[in-house]
Formats: sequence, structure tokens, C-alpha cells
Amino acid sequence: MIGRLETGKGMTSERTRQRMVERLRQAGIQDEAVLKAMAAIPRHSFVDEAIASRAYEDTALPIGHGQTISAPYIVARMIELLRLAKKTPEKVLEVGTGCGYQAAVLSKLFKEVYSVERIGQLLEKTRSRVWTMRIHNLRLMHTDGSYGLVDAAPFDGIIVAAAPESIPDALLEQLSIGGRLVIPVGGKKQQLIVVDRDEQGFTQQIIEAVKFVPLREGSVQ
Ligand code: SAH
Repeated sequence: MIGRLETGKGMTSERTRQRMVERLRQAGIQDEAVLKAMAAIPRHSFVDEAIASRAYEDTALPIGHGQTISAPYIVARMIELLRLAKKTPEKVLEVGTGCGYQAAVLSKLFKEVYSVERIGQLLEKTRSRVWTMRIHNLRLMHTDGSYGLVDAAPFDGIIVAAAPESIPDALLEQLSIGGRLVIPVGGKKQQLIVVDRDEQGFTQQIIEAVKFVPLREGSVQ
């Protein structure tokens, strides 16, 4: 019995997290600050206990309400891309808080983080989790992120954790000059897109194929 308990604990230990970081490195993540932040945030604390032992596999996992926690690789990749913006981002918006894992990683790396979620019940759970973890530079809002967050705009970085069919104008408008948007776009076939804003306008790069839950526009619940 004791052996079993220890195994259970081992599955969520710092060493397990370190192994996840090694796999991210092998998968091509190079930004040491991102790897360090992901080594520090206990991913298992963001999922239900029943699946906590799977928290460090490189896979998306269910978090209720038909939503998922994004796989570690894509979280690392998107944040790494965000940090490569022309203007080093200080104020960042995340669209699609979900369980709050990516928001917690962002809060280790950026001065001011805003994250919006459209499902109220999910957000309430995340709010208490974040409160327990004493993350003070993260603000969570219950709103439709396809309109961005006008009151706090502009943002040096915007990172979107759900895929719209096309990039919402509001997110482009709320980028600061030198700012960068990292967003999955598409329906069945999705691409990860990076948009940079400078004085002349916007430039876009396609990064790689991805798979996200859809960005639902026009309503909160
Ligand atoms: N950031 C999370 C991933 C959550 S999955 C992580 O760290 O793993 C994406 C989330 O986007 C879901 O919780 C979903 O409810 C939310 N979402 C979808 N459409 C949205 C919208 N228009 N505004 C805000 N959140 C939205």
C-alpha cells in the first residue's frame, strides 16, 4: 500500500516535471525561461485528481465542460513564440483560461497577465485554484475573448487557446506596436499563426498544424 502511494506521488513529483521539460527540449523548445517556468508550475494541480498521474504526458486532458488543458508542447511553443515579439512583452492577454495552467506559466514570465474565459463555472474553479497558488499578477475575467479585452488594451502579446475560423479584428486592434498575436486558426484543419504589428501594419507567419477546441464567438455561459 505504501509502495502504491509512493508511486502515485512519484507521478506528480518534481522529477516527473523535469522529465517533461527534457521531452520539451528534445521536441525543439529552446527558450530556457519557458522551460524553467514549466518546470516550476505543478501541471497536475490544474486537472482533476483522477487524472493527475497523467498530467506530465504530452497530451491534452479533459477539464470538464467539454474543454481540455492544452498539451505541454503547444503551451511551451506558443509562449516561446510570444516572447520573440519585437517589443519584449510586458502586458499579455490570454484568450481561453480553461483550468488556468497556461495563465500560470504566463504569469511567471510576464509582468501583467490578463486571461479571459467564456464558461463561468470553469473560471470560478480556476479562480480559487489561482488564489491558493498566490499568483498576484494574473487577472481573470469572465467574458467573450473574441472581442479581446478593451478596458485593458493594448497588449504587447495576445495568446489564444481556442481556434476561430478567422482572426477576430478586435485582437488585431488591441495589439500594441511591436506586439505579437499567437493564435490557432481554422476548423477541422488548423494552423498556428503568428501576427506581428509594426508602424506599417500587420505581418503574418504560419508556424505549424495544430488542434484546438473551437473559439466560440458571441456568447458567454
Ligand atoms: N489555456 C488553457 C486551455 C483551455 S482550452 C490551458 O492552459 O490548458 C480553451 C478554452 O477557451 C476553453 O476553456 C474554452 O471555454 C475557452 N473559450 C472558447 N471560446 C472562448 C471565447 N470566445 N472567449 C473566451 N474563452 C473561450
